[in-house]
Amino acid sequence: MPKINNLKTNKFMSNLLSDRINRLSPSATLAMSQRSSELKAQGVDIINMSVGEPDFNTPDHIKQAAKQAIDDNYTRYSPVPGYAELKKAIVNKLKRENNLDYTAEQILVSNGAKQSVCNTIMAMISNGDEVIIPTPYWVSYPQMVLMADGKPVFVEATIEQDFKITGKQLEQTITERTKLLILCSPSNPTGAVYSKEEMEDLAKVLRKYPQVYVICDEIYEHLNYTNTPHVSLASFEGMKERCIIVNGVSKAYAMTGWRIGFIAAPVEIVKACNKLQGQYTSGPCSVSQKAAEAAYNLPQDCVEQMRKAFERRKNLIVSLAREIKGFEVNDPHGAFYVFPKCSYFFGKSFGDRKINNSTDFAMYLLEEGHVATVGGDAFGSPECFRMSYATSDENIKEAMQRIKTCVEKLK
Ligand code: PMP
Ligand code: GLU
Repeated sequence: MPKINNLKTNKFMSNLLSDRINRLSPSATLAMSQRSSELKAQGVDIINMSVGEPDFNTPDHIKQAAKQAIDDNYTRYSPVPGYAELKKAIVNKLKRENNLDYTAEQILVSNGAKQSVCNTIMAMISNGDEVIIPTPYWVSYPQMVLMADGKPVFVEATIEQDFKITGKQLEQTITERTKLLILCSPSNPTGAVYSKEEMEDLAKVLRKYPQVYVICDEIYEHLNYTNTPHVSLASFEGMKERCIIVNGVSKAYAMTGWRIGFIAAPVEIVKACNKLQGQYTSGPCSVSQKAAEAAYNLPQDCVEQMRKAFERRKNLIVSLAREIKGFEVNDPHGAFYVFPKCSYFFGKSFGDRKINNSTDFAMYLLEEGHVATVGGDAFGSPECFRMSYATSDENIKEAMQRIKTCVEKLK
């Protein structure tokens, strides 16, 4: 046993934490948001476009259901996979909105879609299994795969291809070790939305490789600005048996803090995730589950109202960003992010500050312009940076003006 004074030695410190934790990176989105809050607390007037969460309050009828749940004593442990009434509401939602038939035993409710993705990866991935992740990706996917001792395998979707991979690219990446593909549509961080034809292109390839399962992260389902409804890969021939749909209430109902997400998946996978969750976190918050049940069962007008506001803001930010010389700006068709290419500024300087990469660029915007964004490195796309436009029109206009002034100083 090491003596107490050995606590301070490097050898002991390097043994203190597990290899698993040592190889994990912190969430860049949450880190940038934290940094922005700290600066705000010091009195700096920061516009926060770093973290992705609706700026709206949770609608009143949902909050009312939560208050009622407390009065009705929904205060004890819930069943590990969630209350039967909530699972029923989710089954109905999947039928109503996605025309997909699931049973309650194919649903598992968790502490947010983040846990739903992580549970699935932990339940399915063993040492060395490959998980295909299109880049740009949501920051947490590769980290979760590494936590499970898996191997993330990246497929690049460039801005020229509107940040979407093709069936051909997918096929070139599949090997004997491929176990999972993680598909996020609408996408964080790019806002890209796969069309029915593009999904079919992927499904066609997947049908040839029955060992490959797909996590379909549909958390931004309702933030869709195309004229066609959201399509789930699970609705294509032969795909439902191999898809793990991930969704939840965070984005559609402005409920990020309530922490309710779910998977809809083959029973064997649900059972495995249930076992993991039962040993790890138990059923999610009882009151939040009753709020989520109300979100799914009561009228859906609030979802459309918020979607419309996001669409208006999307048009505003894209048009303002396109006026800034040096940016290449895609037109995002979903979610609430825009992901411009900013590599034009790499190598340029202001005073003794040189921009070498997108992290430097985001830091420069934060410190010089007081606008918090996230560098593309964290999303596997070092030439771009991400802005979340889940903020007021006034903030968007002011932020874009500040960014314009900032980048014009770079020579
Ligand atoms: N997937 C994606 C693509 C996300 O952007 C987020 C937001 N954090 C999540 C999953 C997790 O959502 P939740 O807040 O429900 O955990
Ligand atoms: N999904 C949001 C984002 O990407 C929330 C932060 C997080 O969970 O990483 O900003």
